[in-house]
Amino acid sequence: MKTVSTLLDKDWHERYRRISSLNIRSSIYDVTNRCNLRCKGCFFFSSGEHQAAQEEMDIKKWEDFIDREKARGVNLAILIGGEPTLCMDRVEAFYKRLPTYCATNGLIKVPREKFPDLMVGISLWGSSEDEKTLRGRDTFAISSKNYAGDAYTYYLYTITPPQLGKIEPVIKRIADVGLKVHLQLLSNDEGVNGFSWREGELKDLRSEMDEMLDGYPQTVISSKYYHEIITTGRMMERTFGWNECPSVTESLDNRKPQPRRLINFSRWASDLKTVHRCCTSATRDCSTCKDGAAHMSWIMVNKREHMRSTKDLQGWIEVYEMFAKLYHFIPW
Ligand code: SF4
Ligand code: SF4
Repeated sequence: MKTVSTLLDKDWHERYRRISSLNIRSSIYDVTNRCNLRCKGCFFFSSGEHQAAQEEMDIKKWEDFIDREKARGVNLAILIGGEPTLCMDRVEAFYKRLPTYCATNGLIKVPREKFPDLMVGISLWGSSEDEKTLRGRDTFAISSKNYAGDAYTYYLYTITPPQLGKIEPVIKRIADVGLKVHLQLLSNDEGVNGFSWREGELKDLRSEMDEMLDGYPQTVISSKYYHEIITTGRMMERTFGWNECPSVTESLDNRKPQPRRLINFSRWASDLKTVHRCCTSATRDCSTCKDGAAHMSWIMVNKREHMRSTKDLQGWIEVYEMFAKLYHFIPW
């Protein structure tokens, strides 16, 4: 019988041991329905999630809610929106109670005096020109000044089809300001012309992502196995989509048979009562979904399937390590 011990040598076994004790239980929270940008292709606004619930304004209710989430077993709060930094008191309520990650466009700086080790992920949609086209302004010019050299911050770079062959200058800009970067793909929820992925493009993209990881190993937080899965949507002869997705809100998950999923996972709206279908757009056609976190989690919850060979299990470990680094459970 294949076991972790028979498949891994001493070094890999140590890496396995380090992550297997983490027991991460995440949930996602819409901190606000508002944003200081309106990006073309933003899943939150394009799916109408900003209108799904009325924002809770009483900070005491947020504090009580977070205490209940902690009691429910959540040990990683992922803050999204809208733009969480528009409501620093809510960010602080989470930060004081739970390991917290804040997704932001980086235009407003999280004050480090108050939040010394809050994990910050800054969204970036390409070069200055791409950002102006899709988001109305060059956010990098501002966010890179706000966060240069910050040890708890990385860029979450959403790659779009027109950026094929042009990724390196973006990575280099990030390396030059002393920050890290993680790569994900646009799902084009608003059907912007020329921004939907075609088969051959994804193959080329996979090679380019691999080259970036090889060329900038200190800057790019990623793994080649993740690149394979997110560009092909295939893992162990299975196809990613609704029937496989691990990132569905538990109380809305009526799939039968139920696939392996994130335990206790919920995505909460900002009224602290409503839940959304999953970690991303409530209206997205799952067969087109390129969500990076959902693909990553898909690999992570399917450990048993990766026990068929040393290579498969090592791929699984690398993806788990990548996730743990991105949320600061282990060092970069
Ligand atoms: S900054 Fe983020 S939340 Fe705001 S519109 Fe853009 S993608 Fe959406
Ligand atoms: S849109 Fe993506 S993350 Fe959401 S349920 Fe479908 S496959 Fe999962």
